[in-house]
Amino acid sequence: MTNVDEPQGDPSWADTYYEVWCPYEARILYNLGAFETPEDADEAAAVHNGQFTPPHDAVGTLRVPPLDGLLEQLTGDQLETLQNAALLVIGAREEAATLLSRAGVADSSDGFFGSPCHRCVCPQYQGRDETVCERISCRHSAAQHAY
Ligand SMILES: [Zn+2]
Ligand SMILES: [Zn+2]
Ligand SMILES: [Zn+2]
Repeated sequence: MTNVDEPQGDPSWADTYYEVWCPYEARILYNLGAFETPEDADEAAAVHNGQFTPPHDAVGTLRVPPLDGLLEQLTGDQLETLQNAALLVIGAREEAATLLSRAGVADSSDGFFGSPCHRCVCPQYQGRDETVCERISCRHSAAQHAY
């Protein structure tokens, strides 16, 4: 028996969900809603595809956070400021995490004040002055790790 009221997984991933992208219509099918797992999104996509002749080829896709839309509108100077602000936030969180672990309150693996990437499973921003995370599997911006 599973308790549906139990919190699922890491709270820092609470805003990670999946939606259905239909290439045939070139749009996200917001009317289908959001899904907690890619399997659920694919299932909804399959139902959608079956309603058309010829069938559409919609698939479940990871929701892209609104930050991407914001980034596209920024000028070079604004981007640099956002970058610096993001590094400040990440640095401050790291300091806070270090304080806690020194005091034996929590170690950094507990996820206290971490800066996980909002675009992939990268658990913590790597690098100080880079414009992107140095972790090879990530390479997403500091901003994606900071908000
Ligand atoms: Zn469609
Ligand atoms: Zn990263
Ligand atoms: Zn990433």
